[in-house]
Amino acid sequence: MTDLLSMNFGEMQEFVRALGEKPYRAAQLYSWLHAKGAVSFSEMTNLPKTFRETLAEEAELSVPEIRTVQESKLDGTRKYLFRLSDGEYVESVFMRYHHGNSVCISSQVGCRMGCTFCASTVLGLTRNLTAGEMLAQIYGISRDTGERVSNVVVMGTGEPLDNYDNLVRFLRMVSDEHGLNISERNLTVSTCGLVPEIKRLAGEKLMINLALSLHAPDDALRRRLMPVAKAYPIREILAALDSYYSVNRRRLTFEYSLIRGVNDSMDQAEALARLLKRRNCLVNLIPVNPVTENDYRETRPAEAAAFKKKLEKYGINVTIRREMGRDIDGACGQLRKRCTEMDADL
Ligand code: SAH
Repeated sequence: MTDLLSMNFGEMQEFVRALGEKPYRAAQLYSWLHAKGAVSFSEMTNLPKTFRETLAEEAELSVPEIRTVQESKLDGTRKYLFRLSDGEYVESVFMRYHHGNSVCISSQVGCRMGCTFCASTVLGLTRNLTAGEMLAQIYGISRDTGERVSNVVVMGTGEPLDNYDNLVRFLRMVSDEHGLNISERNLTVSTCGLVPEIKRLAGEKLMINLALSLHAPDDALRRRLMPVAKAYPIREILAALDSYYSVNRRRLTFEYSLIRGVNDSMDQAEALARLLKRRNCLVNLIPVNPVTENDYRETRPAEAAAFKKKLEKYGINVTIRREMGRDIDGACGQLRKRCTEMDADL
């Protein structure tokens, strides 16, 4: 069966032609799927009944269903758990900012990167998400809230660059004028730093933003926190990011989760500042979200503020991330993990 939701516009034109339909039907069908967020063929009322029947025979429209929604009483952030057609679960988050609504999507079921502070990787990688499954998280949330989504961050469960082809297909489709038409400048991909894929992405000529999960100012500590650091030293990652920057001139973001007594000393702030200075970048400090699998604790607010101040002395832009939805299972991957365990118990 053809996976309709992962088909880009050109492929859909080809598909519709092969079925013997008029070319303009491709735009209608694409718009139902990607602009109107249809979940069934029967909704597509401007398509002839015979065409809809052919579609149902030839293609699969399996839209992930919303299993649970949690809403934060603190800031209205909504966390969604989607059930995929094979029974797997992924999480996505909807956030309202003054500049518009943002959705954080997952790119894989689980993750194989093994970062020690992260709940998403505890069960390992189950599978990659298709482009359609990445898109469907945004469509489902948009339908549920009745609101337009203007920003997308690929920062949920999974390492997006470990699912490279589906990710790039997703990025092109979400910014396609026939679909949601979100500007590439409003798309952000967060990576733990896979150097070959960062270099490859630079060649795609996409104007998207990159965020690097750094979390340590030196390789020795980074290797302790993130096993992937054994493959790629910070120096190589920065070189790859610099070449990405030279192509598309998008300001780089460095994510740094502050873990009390591990990576939050003044010396480490100084080392981080020296590492990053003279780059057009933003450092996003995130008080680590404690998860049950480890005993990390977040840096206290006063120390986080001092860390920020030290970086700013070197002229670096810094924000301390507002903690959105802390009251709703804040830590990444926890909701899915609990639900998967729950299903296993049934
Ligand atoms: N694999 C990608 C994207 C998913 S993780 C990446 O590594 O960037 C999204 C972000 O959340 C990353 O910066 C990750 O390091 C961070 N993160 C994961 N677990 C966290 C936790 N318990 N507390 C704070 N940040 C966490």
